[in-house]
Amino acid sequence: MSRAAKITVDLDAIRHNYRLARSLNTAGHAVAIIKANAYGHGAIEVAKALEAEADAFGVACLEEGAELIEAGIQKPVLLLEGYFEVSELDYISEHGVWCAVHSLAQIEQIAQAKLSKPITVWLKMNSGMNRLGVHPDDYQAAFKRLKQLDNVSDIVLMTHFFNSDELDKADTDKQLAVFNKATEGLDAPHCMANSAAVLAWPTARRDWMRPGLMLYGSSPFPAAQENADKLIPAMTLTSEVIAVREVQAGETVGYAGNFCADKPTRVGTVALGYADGYPRHAVTGTPVWVNGQRSRIIGRVSMDMLGVDLTGIDAGIGTEVEFWGKNVLAAEVANHSDTIPYTLFTGITRRVYKHYL
Ligand code: PLP
Repeated sequence: MSRAAKITVDLDAIRHNYRLARSLNTAGHAVAIIKANAYGHGAIEVAKALEAEADAFGVACLEEGAELIEAGIQKPVLLLEGYFEVSELDYISEHGVWCAVHSLAQIEQIAQAKLSKPITVWLKMNSGMNRLGVHPDDYQAAFKRLKQLDNVSDIVLMTHFFNSDELDKADTDKQLAVFNKATEGLDAPHCMANSAAVLAWPTARRDWMRPGLMLYGSSPFPAAQENADKLIPAMTLTSEVIAVREVQAGETVGYAGNFCADKPTRVGTVALGYADGYPRHAVTGTPVWVNGQRSRIIGRVSMDMLGVDLTGIDAGIGTEVEFWGKNVLAAEVANHSDTIPYTLFTGITRRVYKHYL
């Protein structure tokens, strides 16, 4: 008998969300970001679902790229973060993997490699995030150096935003200005936009976009936003009630007794815990969906179980509980557990069964 904890991934929702990104910039292309096992949704399944329409797929490292190639994915795969080993360049060249490059030293590594075929390089600029990327002052020289190399066939000019989900802050405009200045006169396509920029920063959409989170139907913004409101959540996390009990006022529930009933309360114990990826820091009151209505978790989340308030709800052993999905947004759970939807999606563990619609 398997555990009831499962995620259901709605691949039509992912296709809808990808199409939304493309519809916002019909002249451009989009790399569907499916790193980290497609943010926990299953990289191969998501790549297959999008293969007919995605222009390329973005992953963090060569292991993730090779997994797609070995599964028969034909669309280009981009190593989008820019870190790779010199020893990986053979595979990159042989299999036509696109490769972000984040430093001048890496350009020289490519120059010195003996490659069977020239590679496509996405030249990353540090326009303000101060994580990876070539300094704007060195960018023109880096571009010219790449242009000279027989080992390089195509170049895309790229940068990454660090605050594009904050629509009233100046950071993204500053990064746009830095990027525009440093790329002046360079004849190559641009790629800047993550989900937040795809949705809300039209001047960042350019030739290529890199939507990630939005593909999975989650908004990067804390408040409503015209385009983000059209997203459809793709992942539903559910499990089942395995025990029910009545507790009286003054009784506590779960470890540390940090929930104390103030009135008679019907508590369902549900087979889902932090070892499944549900956040241990979710507080009493975090919303759940049971039998067509909202309720809340109560008490501390255990490794394999947690408590749900079933008071006044027609529910018993075997009743399904939705923890996030179309009725309770992952963002709401994130808000109640001091985290973000990215960590919720990527944190689902191996023992949670994945089911695809
Ligand atoms: N581009 C790069 C370089 C990234 O690291 C990421 C994700 O972290 C993305 C694009 C996609 O970002 P988002 O999931 O916010 O759309």
